[in-house]
Amino acid sequence: MIGFGFWIDAHGHLADPRWDGQQDALIEEARGRGLHFFMQGGVGPEDWARQQELKKRHPAHIGLCFGLHPYWVAAHDDEECEEALNLLASALPQALAIGEMGLDFRPHIMKDSRERQLDVFAEQIELAHFSQKPMVLHLVQAHEESLKILDLYGVPKQKGMVHSFNGSGAKAQDFLNRGLYLSIGGPVCRPDNKKLHQAVKEMPLEYLLIESDSPDQPPPAYKDGLNPPESIWEVARTIGELKSLDPLEILDITTGNFHRLIGK
Ligand SMILES: [Zn+2]
Repeated sequence: MIGFGFWIDAHGHLADPRWDGQQDALIEEARGRGLHFFMQGGVGPEDWARQQELKKRHPAHIGLCFGLHPYWVAAHDDEECEEALNLLASALPQALAIGEMGLDFRPHIMKDSRERQLDVFAEQIELAHFSQKPMVLHLVQAHEESLKILDLYGVPKQKGMVHSFNGSGAKAQDFLNRGLYLSIGGPVCRPDNKKLHQAVKEMPLEYLLIESDSPDQPPPAYKDGLNPPESIWEVARTIGELKSLDPLEILDITTGNFHRLIGK
C-alpha cells in the first residue's frame, strides 16, 4: 500500500515557461491532493536548465529527465543537434531518465526533419544503453518506424515508457512485447476515445503508468487554461472505471510501477 501523499505523476513539464511564477503553488496544491513526485519530460538544453532550477527549490519532488524532444529536433539543424547530444551525454548522469526522445511525423511538426529525427532518436537510444537510463518515448504517427528503430538498436536493459500512449490494443502490445511501459494521460478521459478505452482494458496493470503531461493534454474537466498535475485524478478515475478498480488502487499500482521502472 503506497497511499495518499506518495503518489507520482509519471510525466509533465512543470519547468515549462507557461508555469513561470506558479510552480510553487502548483506543487503545493498537487501535494494537497496526494501527489508527492513529479517526473519531468525533457525538451532541450534550455528546458534541462529550467528543470534544474525547479529541482533546487523542490529537491524531493522533482524528477529530472533530459533528452531531445522531436519538436526540438525538428526546430534545430544537424549541427545544433550534434552539439546538444554532446551536452546531453555529459548532463545525463544527473537525470533519472533520458527523454523525451522519439519521432513525431505529424506534417506540421515534421516539416523537413524526418531524417534528423531518425538520427537523433537512434543516437539517444545508444545513449540510453551507455548511460543505463530508462527511456521516455514520444512517438506520434510513426509507429512502424519507431518499432523498426527500437529493434535495430535494441531496447536497453533499463527499458522505458511510451509517454501519453493513445493508440489501439495492437499497438500497445507491440510496445509491451518489447518490455516498455505505457503511460496514460488526459486523452483517456474523452468519452469518445473508444480505441484507447479498449486498449486500456486489455493492458496488464503492471505495465501501466499515469501522467498529466502538464501543462498540455488536459482531461475535458480541465480544458480551460493550463493543465495542472492534479488532473491525474481524472485519469485515475477513468482508468479505474475501465479496469473496475478504485482510483486509489490505480494510483497505488501505477506509483509502484514507476518505482520499479525509474527508481527514485
Ligand atoms: Zn511531455
